[in-house]
Amino acid sequence: MSKPITVKDIKVILTQPDHSHLVVVKVITSEPGLYGLGCATFTQRYHAVQAALEGHIIPFMIGRDVSRIEETFRMAMVNGYWRNGPVLNNAISGIDMALWDIKGKLANMPVYQLLGGKTREAAAVYTHADGRTPEEVAENVQKFQSEGYHYVRIQMGGYGGKGAEMHKPEGAPDGAYFDARAYTRNMLRMMEHVRKTVGDEVELLHDIHERLAPIDTVKFARDVEQFKLFFLEDALAPEDIEWFRQIRQVCATPIAMGELFNNPHEWRILIENRLIDFLRMHISQIGGITPARDALLFGNFYGVRTAWHGPGDVSPVGHAANLHLDLWAPNFGIQEWCRFPSLVYDMFPGTPVVRNGYMYPNDQPGLGIDIDETLAAKYPCTDGVEKWTQTRLPDGTPVRP
Ligand code: MG
Repeated sequence: MSKPITVKDIKVILTQPDHSHLVVVKVITSEPGLYGLGCATFTQRYHAVQAALEGHIIPFMIGRDVSRIEETFRMAMVNGYWRNGPVLNNAISGIDMALWDIKGKLANMPVYQLLGGKTREAAAVYTHADGRTPEEVAENVQKFQSEGYHYVRIQMGGYGGKGAEMHKPEGAPDGAYFDARAYTRNMLRMMEHVRKTVGDEVELLHDIHERLAPIDTVKFARDVEQFKLFFLEDALAPEDIEWFRQIRQVCATPIAMGELFNNPHEWRILIENRLIDFLRMHISQIGGITPARDALLFGNFYGVRTAWHGPGDVSPVGHAANLHLDLWAPNFGIQEWCRFPSLVYDMFPGTPVVRNGYMYPNDQPGLGIDIDETLAAKYPCTDGVEKWTQTRLPDGTPVRP
């Protein structure tokens, strides 16, 4: 038996080419020139992921056989005894994706080939339209349609909406205030206008972003049924998943859920009870390609499709991982896409390309993506306390962002 290729060194690369703090892991092997990249981006707590990697996961990984992805993932998950959670899952994802990248390079095949080959040529994507008024949102949808997008997420005034008059108590602290009740009224008006303006052909999506009380979500899901959404996203918080049953009882609005999930039990219950239609985990947040593949195939048995989380707080390496799963998955649904600026393409050569509403692979071995570390170092992460996640109801109560 030939000597295994092992992990020689691991670098944690922090960079901020656009809005989000990105964490990318580079696994360097004992084979000269052979390395892999993985996404470990937890944009709001990136220093914690860096510390988890440097203090714990990297020492655990040095000297390990790079071919043993499955065994490494399982052992990395249990080695800390206390498992799951966004920090450790992201750290492990950085390693897991990099090992898939390395395996692809060794096999001289793209990762989708290792998974089972292409089921489709490209992944249909959706992008985000927003606006201050229903008219503006409709115009933005039409702009994306003219660029070839067939699926568009529609929001107005960002998550939770803006523009409602806040009836605050005296001494109310600073924060990102929103009025949940006004939000539902405004969104219904917006959706009615957009649907009337753009017609039935374009697929529309909407993200509640866990902003409503569960009973208001049940009513909202029923009220928007008439607009024939492709899906309604994060209708409820992970803490309120029992309420999905109530939504199912009153309407057939398709439900997408999962970007905050950490633990397989969170999606297992929803899948096996057929309470959701799309799985949309943030793949680095659940530990990488290996657990995403497991969740995806489990969903396939129950008719649940994929819609992996894909905004700018997924690094381009993470987007590449999404794409490889999308090309192979028997139950692919849709892919979220954030339209990176050109700097990101320079920093991460091989970043997936979207043409006419479809995301295409570059067919390079592995994940097909690289990083220009010199350029990445020129855009260090800016530290600070996140403002938009200091979300409050009109009376000042902190709520989920
Ligand atoms: Mg979302």
